Amino acid sequence: MTGHPVDIYSLSLPELTARFASMGEPAFRAKQLFDWLYVKRASSYDVMSSFARPLRDKLAAELPFPAIVEHTRNVAADATAKFLFELKDGQRIEVVFIPTAKRGTLCVSSQAGCKFGCGFCASGIGGFVRNLTTGEITGSVLSAMRAVHPKKVTHIVFMGTGEPFDNYDHVLGAVRLLNAKEGINIAARRITISTCGVIPGIERFATEGIQVELSVSLHATNDLLRDRIMPVNRKYPLKELLGACRRFAKATGRQVTFEYILIKDLTCTKDAARELVGLMKGWLSKVNLIPYNPVKEFVHRPPTMNEAREFQAMVERGGVVCTLRSLRGDDVSAACGQLRNSLKNET
Ligand code: SAH
Repeated sequence: MTGHPVDIYSLSLPELTARFASMGEPAFRAKQLFDWLYVKRASSYDVMSSFARPLRDKLAAELPFPAIVEHTRNVAADATAKFLFELKDGQRIEVVFIPTAKRGTLCVSSQAGCKFGCGFCASGIGGFVRNLTTGEITGSVLSAMRAVHPKKVTHIVFMGTGEPFDNYDHVLGAVRLLNAKEGINIAARRITISTCGVIPGIERFATEGIQVELSVSLHATNDLLRDRIMPVNRKYPLKELLGACRRFAKATGRQVTFEYILIKDLTCTKDAARELVGLMKGWLSKVNLIPYNPVKEFVHRPPTMNEAREFQAMVERGGVVCTLRSLRGDDVSAACGQLRNSLKNET
């Protein structure tokens, strides 16, 4: 054994090359392996015909594939596919494929469970279990890619279970692998990290020098309400959060997208629309409205379509770019906020 076994999807090409050097293997072999993994998307060493058997055995011992077994697949009437993958310790994580005419978006998880406990989201209900490793995140993307083939995955959003900036290093490791030119090669601009507002993560992300999109789950326009429905706000209040977002936009030249959930009579009100304009106007920001998707543990209700459109129109009239997200996959509980690491699909 040359070192501790490390799961194979957790190493960048330079790291893999260094690992091969320490095993006495030439660098070009590392490049070949990278190609097998991320371009040919092999799921075991057995199929890697360009490697001799002893090398394959050595690789399987030192750089094993992470255990990611497809447990369930649910395909909604609109072709949105929700996968439940089981990991080596029995934890289950979701990945959702959302096809549209022009895009194939994969919504991926960063943690098993979530510790942030937002008062409208299913992911936090069972509490936090653990961080996913870079290899588990990358591996779950590859498993979903194989499953939806020949449909193409063109975009990745870290909007599944968990808080990406609470698992910063593993998420960034996965982002770099998804983005690697010699590998999966998804353009950075087609990758989005969504955060509930973890300021240190936003600050660090601003210094990465990559063009990955930042999305922030805002959901309330004042501290009184945000404290109530998003406990993270008590630690990172609105003013400081928006300050960090503005600094991010300034430092990177990139627009920040704010997700805003529309809950009847709570966040979908005229006062909130006015406040939202006040917060967003005049800097590199835009708003994406998400009508609340029902989760059985909460009493909230979504607004009517008319109320949602009216809210959108008010924000737009205020001079802020504002889109209204269409509902996808809700019949298999694959919509935003309906993901949880459970076997059942009830909401
Ligand atoms: N923790 C990160 C990543 C999860 S993204 C974050 O909070 O951004 C999932 C998105 O769906 C977030 O914007 C989240 O607030 C939103 N969401 C959660 N529950 C929802 C629900 N019931 N209906 C609609 N959107 C919801």
